[in-house]
Amino acid sequence: MILTKSYATLGPKGNLGPFQFERRSPRENDVVIDILYCGVCHSDIHQARDEWGGSIYPMVPGHEIVGTVSGIGKGVSYFNVGDTVGVGCLVDSCRECPSCHEGLEQYCEGGMVPTYNSMERDGSTPTFGGYSNKIVVREEFVLKIDPKLNLAATAPLLCAGITTYSPLRHWDIQKGKKVGIVGLGGLGHMGVKFSQALGAETVVFTTSESKKSDALRLGANQVVLSKHEAEMQTHQNSFDFILDTISAPHDVNPYLQLLKRDGSMVLVGVPTKPMEVSALNLIFSRKSLSGSLIGGIKETQEMLDFCARHQIVSDVEVIPIQKINEAYERVIRSDVKYRFVIDMKSLS
Ligand code: NAP
Ligand code: ZN
Ligand code: ZN
Repeated sequence: MILTKSYATLGPKGNLGPFQFERRSPRENDVVIDILYCGVCHSDIHQARDEWGGSIYPMVPGHEIVGTVSGIGKGVSYFNVGDTVGVGCLVDSCRECPSCHEGLEQYCEGGMVPTYNSMERDGSTPTFGGYSNKIVVREEFVLKIDPKLNLAATAPLLCAGITTYSPLRHWDIQKGKKVGIVGLGGLGHMGVKFSQALGAETVVFTTSESKKSDALRLGANQVVLSKHEAEMQTHQNSFDFILDTISAPHDVNPYLQLLKRDGSMVLVGVPTKPMEVSALNLIFSRKSLSGSLIGGIKETQEMLDFCARHQIVSDVEVIPIQKINEAYERVIRSDVKYRFVIDMKSLS
């Protein structure tokens, strides 16, 4: 077994604090990773505080992991000790169902295994995430990372990156399309970078006046203050695609009105309460409202390679793990530009 240092929460109302546990010794197909950096996703907060229900404690959050391979099982063929690698939101799946065969492990019909707040496929071993100094993962769920990249700024690509890249690709965003990105947080700022890199006209919708200039710097063609009705009106019936990254309950109907005929709005944000949708906003002009969950392993590797080619990383604020509770409060206040990343050296 591998003694592992981490930060965990013991219940929905508690803070995160130091926690030690044991990872499994590498099996035949396992890769042991010494974690260098782990991003802080809003999903970590939702789950640490049991906002979606069903949370398992103790919980070690973290699914935006970058590190170095420090050991491999006998059957590992794709990785060597010393490689720079990443791990995202899933660490296993059935590997047999149609979704798994299509490289869509996130939609595994047998149930994918999330990196934390879940059980392994044995049904009894809890998974612990990346706010820790080591992780052991089957090689099929490990990603290759170019060691020349800024590794702290690369970590958020493993969730915020793939979660925004995947729907933009699935809905075929390219030059000539008009794309709205709703909410300029960890996911939203990656959405802007990808939409711009894919050649689309990109409009950011934000509630934060203070983020207007940043949105333009990140690559948006226009910024709209979503509370400003007149500004919203000027975009009626004009969008091909709108990606909603908002983490809190909000009204989607004003955005549905901005789609043009056959346009699609896709939810990636996971507010804690169900939302109301006016059927009229969909029926007139045959609009669609959909959702999208992270991305499969093959597409995550494609996204990482796309980022390396286009020099895309996340805008990050690196913190020691001792600042994690303060960081959570700041994420909730939308006071982060645009992703906190934990430097795991601070654990030792
Ligand atoms: P984040 O960094 O906190 O960004 C969320 C943004 O939403 C904020 O920056 C803010 O943008 C906006 N916002 C927050 N509260 C709002 C409110 N009350 N009304 C309107 N806008 C509000 O969070 P994140 O890490 O990007 O995650 C966003 C959501 O996606 C979370 O719910 C997370 O769980 C979910 N998620 C889903 C997937 C998936 O696979 N579908 C993957 C990862 C995360 P402005 O300041 O610009 O308004
Ligand atoms: Zn995430
Ligand atoms: Zn499967």
